Amino acid sequence: MSLFNEASFYISVNRLKDLPMHNGAEIAFAGRSNAGKSSVINTLTRHNKLAFVSKTPGRTQHINFFQLRSDLFLVDLPGYGYAKVPAEIRNHWKSLLSEYLQTREILLGLVLIMDVRHPLKDLDLQMLNWFSITRKSIHIMLTKADKLSRHQANSTLNEVKDFLALHYPTVSVQLFSSTKAVGLEEANRIIKGWVDNDTALLD
Ligand code: GDP
Repeated sequence: MSLFNEASFYISVNRLKDLPMHNGAEIAFAGRSNAGKSSVINTLTRHNKLAFVSKTPGRTQHINFFQLRSDLFLVDLPGYGYAKVPAEIRNHWKSLLSEYLQTREILLGLVLIMDVRHPLKDLDLQMLNWFSITRKSIHIMLTKADKLSRHQANSTLNEVKDFLALHYPTVSVQLFSSTKAVGLEEANRIIKGWVDNDTALLD
């Protein structure tokens, strides 16, 4: 059974000191605004509106927690890189994201969502830098693959793989499409692997 089938909203927080205390592990999802993160979460969980698919990118300033099992949470981090956001809010996000990623002990891994047409932008690289320090798992989902031909999508996938092999050899990457539900099995398999390998989790 998929890890994501029973997802339900748990809590939404705007400050690190409000992060929930629970006995489970967390899997975080991050990405540039409009990259398709909410759609990925909705597709994985088979919920149309679990993560709100924003019509105005950059609105979501909160960290949203969804419960997957009694001991497992999906964490939807605020989208980054939206140009129209005032510097003050951008800085708030930056410290919220970097601190959460670097200091949250119960965080198992990070799923980084990128639009396959614009992968590995500066802020994506910053996320990779921040999080790779922890030596925890990272998986990149190149989404909206349906917007490119199969050939174009595969050549982007190979370029990203080449980059990762050089700079972040433990990071995995896949193609995904929320509209066409492409790559669901692969995403499930990889994230389930993290959970299965975590000895602190019981089942
Ligand atoms: P977020 O800001 O990263 O949460 O991005 P959203 O999930 O809100 O998606 C941004 C826009 O891209 C919306 O108009 C979505 O309908 C569209 N979108 C998201 N995923 C896909 C996809 O896989 N294929 C296509 N064609 N459009 C997508």
